[in-house]
Amino acid sequence: MNLWNKLMCYSRRHSPWLFHMNGGSCNGCDIELIASLTPRYDAEQLGVRLEGSPRHADILCITGPVTHNAVNAIKTVYDQVCGPKAVVAIGSCPATTNVFIDSRTLDGPLNRHVPVDVFVPGCPPRPDAIIQGVAKAAEILAERASKKLPIAPVVMPLVGPGCNGACSCAAITETKNEEVQA
Ligand code: SF4
Repeated sequence: MNLWNKLMCYSRRHSPWLFHMNGGSCNGCDIELIASLTPRYDAEQLGVRLEGSPRHADILCITGPVTHNAVNAIKTVYDQVCGPKAVVAIGSCPATTNVFIDSRTLDGPLNRHVPVDVFVPGCPPRPDAIIQGVAKAAEILAERASKKLPIAPVVMPLVGPGCNGACSCAAITETKNEEVQA
């Protein structure tokens, strides 16, 4: 790897730029993502930055159960993020469609349409869980850039008490982990 590529890997690992996309969420996860970047949790202080254009981003953060209307937009935005790139599914909705599972307006889960690298369970996930997920995605990104190898998706542990059985946080951590190991 030449010096330029080493520098790019280092920058991606230490200051990933995010693009946030809402795939039909209730906005709970979106608010938590913003909370993770604003002064209380302050991921920006660690170099994580929310970017206004997918063309400038390294990591695509997607919330929501993926409605029919959102599918084409998600695929277009995914293609617009320059490689190497990573995708973080924030919340239980993009992983399983969660409490909206029987809705006829949905075309989820997210990994039917784009490859997902990190699942962050929770409904909504806590800001510290989102920061952990983004840090994991930055690690995957740097590894992908340096080795160009396929990397299996990662399911982050549930942070905090979770919700009392109404959502599918537990299902993600159990079933997705089995899928990853298979
Ligand atoms: S995971 Fe929960 S909080 Fe997040 S979009 Fe779905 S229903 Fe809303």
